Amino acid sequence: MKEDKMRTTLFCDTCMDDTEHEVTYVDKILYQIRCVECEKSHSRGSEIQRELYLNYMERVFSKPKRFKNEAGENLPHFLFSLPYRVMSKPFRTYKEIKNMFNYKRKI
Ligand SMILES: [Zn+2]
Repeated sequence: MKEDKMRTTLFCDTCMDDTEHEVTYVDKILYQIRCVECEKSHSRGSEIQRELYLNYMERVFSKPKRFKNEAGENLPHFLFSLPYRVMSKPFRTYKEIKNMFNYKRKI
């Protein structure tokens, strides 16, 4: 999973001023915005996990739309059934899923 950080000036509602913010993207999805002055951060909750997962699926499978629909219906069940679906790429899959849960723990 690729993490990119960039800095930009945004209005902070704690500092009540335009301050420098660190913006973190994970796989090109906005993950966190943190005010460098007061350290207040806004993270995306469970929805980013879903987006990361769907991104991942699109890369692994040739029929992303089908899997997207299926994941949308019942994500926990879909995650649970994952090992059977991706047997051909076990190591890479395990590593990527592990990464995904690291992001969950940070929130
Ligand atoms: Zn601030």
